[in-house]
Amino acid sequence: MALFLALLALAQARDDDRMIYSMTGFGMVFLARHQLPDGSWGEQSGACVCPFQALPLDEPDRARFDAQLALLEDDDPAVRSRAQRALWYLGPGAISLVREASIRGPIETRSRCRELLRERHRFAAPGDRKTTSLGLLCCLWAGQTPDSPDVYRKVPMGRVVQRGLDWLVERQSDAALSDPVSEALSALALSEAAACTESAPLKRAATLGLERVARLRSDETEVLAWSVLLRMSAARRGAVETVKPDLRRIRALLAERSESLARSVVYLCDLWSDAVPDVWAAAESLEAEPLEPDPTAFFFSTLVFLNVFGPSELSIRWCDNGVKLELLESQRGKRGCDEGGWMCTGSRGTFRKTALLTMAGQIYYHYQTSPAAWDPPCEESSR
Ligand SMILES: [Zn+2]
Repeated sequence: MALFLALLALAQARDDDRMIYSMTGFGMVFLARHQLPDGSWGEQSGACVCPFQALPLDEPDRARFDAQLALLEDDDPAVRSRAQRALWYLGPGAISLVREASIRGPIETRSRCRELLRERHRFAAPGDRKTTSLGLLCCLWAGQTPDSPDVYRKVPMGRVVQRGLDWLVERQSDAALSDPVSEALSALALSEAAACTESAPLKRAATLGLERVARLRSDETEVLAWSVLLRMSAARRGAVETVKPDLRRIRALLAERSESLARSVVYLCDLWSDAVPDVWAAAESLEAEPLEPDPTAFFFSTLVFLNVFGPSELSIRWCDNGVKLELLESQRGKRGCDEGGWMCTGSRGTFRKTALLTMAGQIYYHYQTSPAAWDPPCEESSR
């Protein structure tokens, strides 16, 4: 029986690199390869050799760094080991200073610094909820679930999704709310995961996520943007009865804001709440550049463009305006660890940008598991 099950599992595993030969596939696998050992995404993993540009430490962190570096000389091994851990928690900026100190620092600490550089994979700092939720959404919207048999570049995707969800579910038990964007994004990731599984703990965590977002008192544009997708996601899986009053409330908050992200979200609120969306106002706000500093705005404007003009117009726009070329050129040409990513300063920034541009690509390729396939809710469901 065991042998039979093992053979069955082998037959089901799909390790086929050809499945990922696309912008979206490479982006997702880049993220999957950079998941931290605890299942989250965040600061660069200790084993990673991507050329992330380390952010310089700010004033308070620099002071912490100096204090901990001095403790590396302590006689008590427990104190030294705590100091090593604290240094690594300060992130890549601290690690590059440790590297410097291992060559040019005080003679007594040089060998301790070299030791820390050798050992640093053991001190992987935990990730954060914002980056982890984006990493998960990128996989979920590509159709990956905890049960996925897909193995890409030796990375088992089902396990990546499962570990990321376990990490997020555990964070839902913290009574205190974290920053509003993280709350909205993790509720969205849990809601989308709950839609494709029968797991009771996951469904409970998704419900809790909705309750936490309802407690937020933020009217930041990005928080509202993700909250709109969260409400639609919850409505689509039947977790809430009506979303239209909420969407109208959010629309009213954003109506006067001129930034591209706000215009996109106003359009989506109208589209999904039975109002008549202003197509031309939306079209005007869609001039966003693909590699502009805010990939969130690019993701939302791609979604709006698809809804306003349809997939073939989106395809023409991406090709004629050089959007696709620009995305491909800035992703391609990398080998090894950083293949598939869109690099920027700091590993967190890189993972977020890669997730958001990949998710925009999923809209462009009209993935059925992404918001590309979200239709306006049926009229009778809400009145
Ligand atoms: Zn890497």
